[in-house]
Amino acid sequence: VWLSVSGRPLEVDGRRGAIAVFHDVTATREREADLTAFAGIVAHDLKNPLTVIAAHAEMARDALSALPPHPGEAIDSIERVSNGVVRMRRLIDDLLAYTTARDAALKPQPLDLAELVTDVVGQRVNHLRVRPDVYVGPLPRVEADPAMLRHVLDNLVGNALKYVTPGRIPKIDISAGSAGPGWVRVEVADRGIGIPDADKPHVFESFHRAHAGQPYGGTGLGLAICRRIVDRHGGSITVADNPGGGSRFSFTVPAATTLPPALPASSSTS
Ligand code: ADP
Repeated sequence: VWLSVSGRPLEVDGRRGAIAVFHDVTATREREADLTAFAGIVAHDLKNPLTVIAAHAEMARDALSALPPHPGEAIDSIERVSNGVVRMRRLIDDLLAYTTARDAALKPQPLDLAELVTDVVGQRVNHLRVRPDVYVGPLPRVEADPAMLRHVLDNLVGNALKYVTPGRIPKIDISAGSAGPGWVRVEVADRGIGIPDADKPHVFESFHRAHAGQPYGGTGLGLAICRRIVDRHGGSITVADNPGGGSRFSFTVPAATTLPPALPASSSTS
């Protein structure tokens, strides 16, 4: 049984107490679980036919390119098919990541956040033509599922590099600090195009896109995945304007509860 609890303090005739209201949300949760499972199965089953379409589009393009003179219009149509396949693949990958973020077993362990961030940023920046300006502050150890936390950071860094102000070098600031005893707050700030106030409360909802109709591809699932993952770690994720322009995403994760591994003992020659 799933219960949702809300409440508030109450004072009656000078006597203090509290009122708590319990809602049985089992049916809603079960419906949600069914829908997520369904999305996962559909996404998985779409992968095979899509691979066949992609392979045949490539073969058709090669065959057409070999014909003298090149039939430009036909090649153009095939390019469009290939681009559509890329977009569908992205959607399928996001749908699968969405179901994984909800259902996969969480395996938290002490992690070096600095190592993870360096790795994520390195991979994202590697195949960019314009090197972004990235500043990474001192980062602590946290207690989190490595694959899932990587997904959160990768999504936030990916968005910071995607929603950039045209003509400006992308800038990302990644920092962390305490969010109370036992908790770490991680912040990823950018100098990009920002998020309108009306959209801020909704960007973590599935399929909500604040810049739909503008030339930024996407599925609207990345931040919903981030929220699921952070929720499952017991933390929360928010977005605000970056004071220097752009957006600033903050999320909390448990601090590492174990000590870092001891340094390897220096070899002795006695
Ligand atoms: P998408 O696949 O569309 O990027 P996300 O769930 O990652 O989906 O983000 C939801 C929406 O939030 C995006 O469509 C975009 O409008 C907005 N958004 C996310 N990150 C940023 C950012 N760093 N700067 C500006 N807008 C952002």
